[in-house]
Amino acid sequence: MSRSIALQMTTLVLYAFASGCCLAEEKEVPMALQPFALKDVRLADGPCEAAQEANRKYLHLLDLDRLLYTFRQNAGLPTSGEPLGGWEKPEVEVRGHFPGHFLSACALMYASTGDEELKAKADKMVAELAKCQEKLGGGYLSAYPASFLDRLESMERVTWAPLYVIHKIMAGLFDMYQLAGNEQALDMLKKMAAYFKGRADKLTDFQMERMLTVEFGGMSEVLHNLYGVTHDPDHLALANRYDQAGFLGPLALDRDNLSHIHGNTQIPKICGAARRYELTGEENYRHLTEFFWDRVVNARCYATGGTTSAEVWPEPNALAGTLAVNNQECCKTHNMLKVTRHLLQWTGDPAYADYYERAFWNGILGTQRADTGMLLYYVPLATGLTKQWGTPYDSFWCCYGTGIETFAKLGDSVYFHDDDAVYVNLFLPSTVTWKDKGLRLEQVTRFPEEEGTSLVLHLDKPTTVGLCVHVPYWATQGVTVEVNGQPVEAAAKPTSYLRLNRTWNDGDRVEVALPMVLHAAPMPDAPELVAVMYGPVVLAGLSPEVDGDLLSDPADPTQWIEKLPDAPLTFQTKGQKAPMRLIPWHQVIDEPYGVYWVVTKEGGPRHKQILAAQEARRKRAARTVDEVLVGDADSEKAHNLQGDKTGDGPLGNRHWRHAVVDGWWSWDLKVLPAGQMTLSCTLWGSDSGNRKFDLLVDGTVIATQEMKSNNPGRFLDMDYPIPVKLTKGKDKVTIRFQGQPGNMAGGVFGCAVLRPE
Ligand SMILES: [Zn+2]
Repeated sequence: MSRSIALQMTTLVLYAFASGCCLAEEKEVPMALQPFALKDVRLADGPCEAAQEANRKYLHLLDLDRLLYTFRQNAGLPTSGEPLGGWEKPEVEVRGHFPGHFLSACALMYASTGDEELKAKADKMVAELAKCQEKLGGGYLSAYPASFLDRLESMERVTWAPLYVIHKIMAGLFDMYQLAGNEQALDMLKKMAAYFKGRADKLTDFQMERMLTVEFGGMSEVLHNLYGVTHDPDHLALANRYDQAGFLGPLALDRDNLSHIHGNTQIPKICGAARRYELTGEENYRHLTEFFWDRVVNARCYATGGTTSAEVWPEPNALAGTLAVNNQECCKTHNMLKVTRHLLQWTGDPAYADYYERAFWNGILGTQRADTGMLLYYVPLATGLTKQWGTPYDSFWCCYGTGIETFAKLGDSVYFHDDDAVYVNLFLPSTVTWKDKGLRLEQVTRFPEEEGTSLVLHLDKPTTVGLCVHVPYWATQGVTVEVNGQPVEAAAKPTSYLRLNRTWNDGDRVEVALPMVLHAAPMPDAPELVAVMYGPVVLAGLSPEVDGDLLSDPADPTQWIEKLPDAPLTFQTKGQKAPMRLIPWHQVIDEPYGVYWVVTKEGGPRHKQILAAQEARRKRAARTVDEVLVGDADSEKAHNLQGDKTGDGPLGNRHWRHAVVDGWWSWDLKVLPAGQMTLSCTLWGSDSGNRKFDLLVDGTVIATQEMKSNNPGRFLDMDYPIPVKLTKGKDKVTIRFQGQPGNMAGGVFGCAVLRPE
């Protein structure tokens, strides 16, 4: 295609995206698969049910007056109880987001478990929020003043993410209507839509598009959902106005525009585009959803199915340098599974089921602790770090909101159906009821400990129905099937659905064996940096000090890892200097772990590099005159720690010290009276933001360090020569860290004085 024609097409498509002139007709689009309602699926005893139960307890624990505090305060109504902490503190700009998620989670949990007490609690909350909405004029409802929206629309003094919060409240009301039958919630949502229509009607397309550069959650999605219920063209028109042409248009033209942008700002826009396609049949929106999914899943996901580092997407397939403390924000996995569910329904393509399973085991399960229901923000993938759990009342990060929804709907994509077959998509102990066929399908399995599943059909009468079982990408050893103990012919490739057609009788039992093997998941840009999987689960190594020290064939983990015979899903390295135990990542709770390993063939170039680095570390240790152990109170005291506005804390199994703006700290370290000394500091290569600081020796600046993600996901050993005159004749000096104006200093993870080589 010539460039000029391509440009014309770009212009046309972008115009079509930007223009609000032509509202599409409502149209039913063909679906390959239909979902089951959440209320028709029930989990049975196993890790998923335990996670659901922990979440249910947490939803019961949360106090309604505290959840309502800032809404009542904003409406000028009397408050009781205390405000919440974390991101829900009254002074935090995104206050009100979590209570919105809470309504969604209660509605989902009611559908999943039938918990009437929880439904009553959420109904009460809706009624109390209605009072707030009434007091605020009958349309607007939020925990912050409407002036935040004025500031957003004018793009002056914009607060954090005002419409992101509004989306959560609207979605909570929608879910309470759709899943818990609360008509008052629908009425309140319609009033909110009318209020936001009034605001949007005053904005030109230019002003609207400018405003949509600020994170706005799933405004399009919830308003399209509302239209799906009301069929009111005003709701469709309003929903369409939140479809951001500047982002969606290029995707519709197969332009990968995802590098270096904030991931979770974008995924909900795709959820909205997917709903638009389902309601109007506009093919552009289907196409861009498929293209987007491919660019995230096939170019920017880790072995776990998670995506982003520091919440931002890298260039396609440039993942090896992004391992850090803040990989795969949990919201993104939650939202990518929503996108995947749409695509699976449209296409029936088992590749979408493969991704769903991978992200489910390695990015959903394992992000909540089943003993307390507490949740993660990020999944660290740099080696040696630990999961950082939140608290019941003082976290409320975005991922707490999506987390309580996720663990209230674990059954939502386990089963699908078409006109004449049921699809088993995930292997979880559970049952699904298909009323039209008089079928209750019971799945009995200890998967993934058990390498397969059993399906028992409970039927009113003999029934002809297809049974389609997902055969995932990892099932490379073949599949065997028995019906009532008799082997049946069953050939199925990895990434397919195995279909059994017959007339079934009540109590028929189908056993499906899916043998698992160890397999490597290498980084696309570093074949020697591999994660190891067993079936669908990513293994985490629990002795992360062996990082960089594994000698074998990176492509074949069976050469260096073996499964232990007596412990389920427990593995150990073999033929290595130090043995390392590995377990599924989703089973890790508090242990430091590693997921990616440098595995090199002995004597190869990478192995030589590693040996050289080890030798450099050995030499450095031999040169150390004095060293302070950061975070070790005795060591820091012995080095005469002084400072102002300084703090310390853990990062995985390391410890940092920093000073906030206008702060500083110092330690006294020994030096030798003669010779060139070197100050050596360990810094964190992912640190960025306002972090430009001076290093002073006895009051003289010897270096200035700026942190700008200098080496993401890795620690940096930085050496700063100390001028000889500053140490001459002395036996110790004071090392001071001082931020430049408006800047922090640190974090510093290690500090030593080295003698000359
Ligand atoms: Zn999040």
